[in-house]
Amino acid sequence: MTEYRHLLSPITLSGVTLRNRSLMGSMHTGLEETGDWGRVAAFYAARAEGGAGLIVTGGMAPNREGGVFPGAAGLFSAADIANHRRVTDAVHAAGGRIAMQILHAGRYAYSPDCVAPSAIKSPISPFPPKELDEAGIEKQIADIATAAARAVEAGYDGVEVMGSEGYFLNEFLVTHTNRRTDAWGGSYENRMRLPVEVVARVRTALGPEKILVYRISLIDLVPDGSTWDEVITLARAVQAAGASVLNTGIGWHEARVPTIATSVPRAAFTDLTARLRPEVQIPVIASNRINTPDVAEGILAQGMADMVSMARPWLADPAFIAKASTGRAGQIAPCIACNQACLDHTFSGKLTSCLVNPRACHETELVIAPAAGPRRIAVVGAGPAGMTAAITAAGRGLDVTLFDRATEVGGQLNLAKQVPGKEEFHGLVDWFRAELDRSGVILRLGTEAGVEDLRGFDGVIVATGVTPRDPGIPADPGSQVLSYIDVLQGAAVGPRVAVVGAGGIGFDVAEFLAEPGASPTLDRAAWRREWGVAAPWDTRGGLTAARPEAAAREIWLLQRKPEKPGRKLGKTTGWIHRATLQARGVKMLGGINYDRIGADGLAVSQGPARENPQVLPVDTVVLCAGQEPARALSDALTAAGIAHHRIGGADVAAELDAKRAIDQAMRVAATL
Ligand code: NAP
Ligand code: SF4
Repeated sequence: MTEYRHLLSPITLSGVTLRNRSLMGSMHTGLEETGDWGRVAAFYAARAEGGAGLIVTGGMAPNREGGVFPGAAGLFSAADIANHRRVTDAVHAAGGRIAMQILHAGRYAYSPDCVAPSAIKSPISPFPPKELDEAGIEKQIADIATAAARAVEAGYDGVEVMGSEGYFLNEFLVTHTNRRTDAWGGSYENRMRLPVEVVARVRTALGPEKILVYRISLIDLVPDGSTWDEVITLARAVQAAGASVLNTGIGWHEARVPTIATSVPRAAFTDLTARLRPEVQIPVIASNRINTPDVAEGILAQGMADMVSMARPWLADPAFIAKASTGRAGQIAPCIACNQACLDHTFSGKLTSCLVNPRACHETELVIAPAAGPRRIAVVGAGPAGMTAAITAAGRGLDVTLFDRATEVGGQLNLAKQVPGKEEFHGLVDWFRAELDRSGVILRLGTEAGVEDLRGFDGVIVATGVTPRDPGIPADPGSQVLSYIDVLQGAAVGPRVAVVGAGGIGFDVAEFLAEPGASPTLDRAAWRREWGVAAPWDTRGGLTAARPEAAAREIWLLQRKPEKPGRKLGKTTGWIHRATLQARGVKMLGGINYDRIGADGLAVSQGPARENPQVLPVDTVVLCAGQEPARALSDALTAAGIAHHRIGGADVAAELDAKRAIDQAMRVAATL
């Protein structure tokens, strides 16, 4: 009996036995498009070595018009097949199984050549799609089947047919996007004809002994989405057409409901998979916001699914199952669902990586090798940069001492974890603390390291972080002005608040101050009320009116730039923060001049001509006006002639964020 009995038990799909019930969900990493197939193979092989039961690749285009963007990878030539063969060979050599996802993007394809059932433009794409005629539909089906046949040639154990998230197959299913009046539209039987035909033809192309995963949308979260009866009808039809297993899809990409962000409760949608399970004979896979072996095991042990899909957690830790299966679950680097280095990168055309694990997709380039000689290294500052540097250096065999004047490790991560919706940061700090213990780093907490303390070391890394910027707004005596640090550490704040600065921290602080009770992230029912998510068996598409709680305070969130606050937040998560504050009635204003803080409030005006002067009647002003690097120690070391590396916020405060800090720290520590 192991701790994760259900998760670690094998399962057989269409004659292919998987060693456990974890599926590494499809992610577009951008690696294939680099053309460096050694790197692609290394990425997937690392996850196979780490125990993934079934890996699903990033979406491969079946043809040019179906690619997510022009030039998207697919199996178009013999050379492509040979390249993919390198990947499948590497995964098989590591004892893994791998299926290729076939992704036809439909009207989401970022291209003027995109095609769809009807010529209805998506709200998230600038390109109106071309409506396919009969021959065009046949071509799409044939191309998808051909992609499946080529996947077999390339050595894959099967394919995943992407039928959810609002892509091509999903677009046929609902009147939201399918207004056809021929045999491919109208009645549900007609609308589901295309996905069912695709599955049947893909099964023929694969033969009987390959895995066919069908990703089915269980809740569309768009107007005129599928009813639950339709979902079940489709599930049974694709089962009959040859699917081996059904993977869960949640929400279209254009949905205005978050589905995977960190503020989404863990395992938020598993009740849908559980409801599907008894309706079909083939296994079902749960998905979305599953990020620990305990959550995964719980889902399986409760009979809610037969397998569990996790995608981003495999970026954060390629050895997820290897650790879970050997009593080392606490060592799994946690995915905090931030999207900062994965999806935000993908949508900015950058290579995917991971905030917690900068080696993700950089396996062949960022190599942590044993260090030469026994050397003593001092790291000052136990925030994300300092902790990463210390752990990496110790992992290379160096003798590391980590100083921090605080009595606990974590730095600004300890502030982030106070913010509602950022509860995952608790696990991240816990993981760092455990890794520090395990790696043998000597911790000198409660110790302000000075030049003399650092003289005897062979290497010094300064990771002293940042100090909050004081914007120098004139303030009358008696006015209450706090920094974001005071607030997140629990300082009393009045019922009316102005937040000065609308960057990442200004938004975090506004959400913290607006929250009337327990974080909805910890209460699935409250979170669903907040975002207007209904059971799809009660409401078509699972959408209902949102019923957000009223804010705990009256809040103004301000910035000087004459633009909408929040424009620079994360590409895939900024809209969630803006929508959360809007729903709470927070007043977000750009183009503001801060004239004076008085007992009666914050005097402001607007624009260069200082128009519309007014006093915002607030009790408290909270400063979130960015950061300055904390460089006193670095400057003193320089003056004393002591060479050192400066990393994280102490190096560049302008973009203080854990992603850059951790990446830089690991790279510096890898070269000591
Ligand atoms: P930021 O994103 O650079 O925002 C700073 C804000 O302060 C801006 O809205 C800026 O807008 C304003 N500002 C700058 N100088 C000012 C001045 N002299 N007077 C008045 N206002 C001024 O910085 P941040 O919010 O501190 O976040 C830093 C980074 O950390 C971001 O990349 C963010 O994503 C990340 N982050 C970190 C945490 C954390 O807990 N550590 C949390 C969330 C996000 P105007 O210049 O227009 O006024
Ligand atoms: Fe998870 Fe964030 Fe890493 Fe993406 S960047 S895998 S969301 S921890």
